[in-house]
Amino acid sequence: MDKGEFLANKQKLEAAYVGVLKEYLSDVEFMESDFCLVHQQNCFISPRRDLDHQRSLWVEASGNTCCPWSAMARAVQTGGWLDVASLPFMVWCFSVRFYEPDLILQENVCRFPEQELLAILNDFSDGVLKDLWTRPFDAEEGTQRCYKMQVHSFSPTDLGIPSNRQRQYASFSLSPWVKIETGALTFEAIFHRSRRVGPEVYLNAVPNSVLISEIKSEAKNRGWDGTKVLTQHDALSTGNRGRLESWQCWASRGTALRDKNGVWQHRLALADVTQNPRFKNRVDVDYMPCLLTHTVLWDLVTDSMVPVMAHWLAQGFPHPSAVLLSPDIARSFPFDPSLIEYVSERALPLSAQRILTGNAMHGSCIGSWFLFNMVGTDTTRIQAHMDSPVESLSSL
Ligand SMILES: [Zn+2]
Repeated sequence: MDKGEFLANKQKLEAAYVGVLKEYLSDVEFMESDFCLVHQQNCFISPRRDLDHQRSLWVEASGNTCCPWSAMARAVQTGGWLDVASLPFMVWCFSVRFYEPDLILQENVCRFPEQELLAILNDFSDGVLKDLWTRPFDAEEGTQRCYKMQVHSFSPTDLGIPSNRQRQYASFSLSPWVKIETGALTFEAIFHRSRRVGPEVYLNAVPNSVLISEIKSEAKNRGWDGTKVLTQHDALSTGNRGRLESWQCWASRGTALRDKNGVWQHRLALADVTQNPRFKNRVDVDYMPCLLTHTVLWDLVTDSMVPVMAHWLAQGFPHPSAVLLSPDIARSFPFDPSLIEYVSERALPLSAQRILTGNAMHGSCIGSWFLFNMVGTDTTRIQAHMDSPVESLSSL
């Protein structure tokens, strides 16, 4: 079998797998309640079960697992639907079709198949299972019930933020109840900004004490007994240290990073030491590269480690230990700070923090996408039944 035949057969297998999943999931009637972490009890999944919320705008925001469509999957020509992440994704697709939220916001990698999702959502044919409490069945005569999709691909760098994470953002609004209309106000016009700072803003925000704590913590994991004088290199695994040497060698060879006297032409040059320079062949000087779950960055100019704290900041999370951060902003850090305080017993291992930040959506990007859709959302059709005696409206 040659490569072409192999790929054609793989596509057939993918189509067959998706077909079986769809057939099976079409018959699934989803549960009306499930255990709720906020209330520590079983709660209804659909907010429409609560009379106070029947006329509220219900927004489902999600980022599904991206493995099947990631750049890495494409590079090694695996990927596509033959992936363990396909099952939970398809279950989610059918569950949103079942409960029918008013607005669905989705973040994913650029190859995410949102047309597939749209086709599933927009199947309103006879026999499609729906929650009894989906958007009222009394749509005005002559209006068609369907989800309308908008898709936009952008990175924090487009918003003026020195952090790279190109992602696809989609919204699906349930017509005719929700209409998104922004007229001449495009996403670009509202949110795009030119970039004035580089990734050094994140590194400068890390106190020296945190950098030392992280180096010590990493070194301890690699067997440092606390007596030998530490260097930053002790924080790296043997494999990463070897690749760092390859990167240093790579950077010394006519890469235009240094002038002919060997002087660096940039304030910093970030190399991912978990990747081989021959494979990656690029360092980042203008922004933080796109963080993955195991990314370990090294600044070749200052020969120093990029601490995990900078990963939080680059993803838009106001790490409470950041230098000059106002207490008001620090309070908006969404997790219990003791999970990331370096002196705390409860602190998550740095490796777990790398996974969290590498899997996170970028705070500003998801916020901008949310705002853009909210600004343009007309929900007057949802609210038109407010005068019903048994119902009251809770504003969002
Ligand atoms: Zn609850």
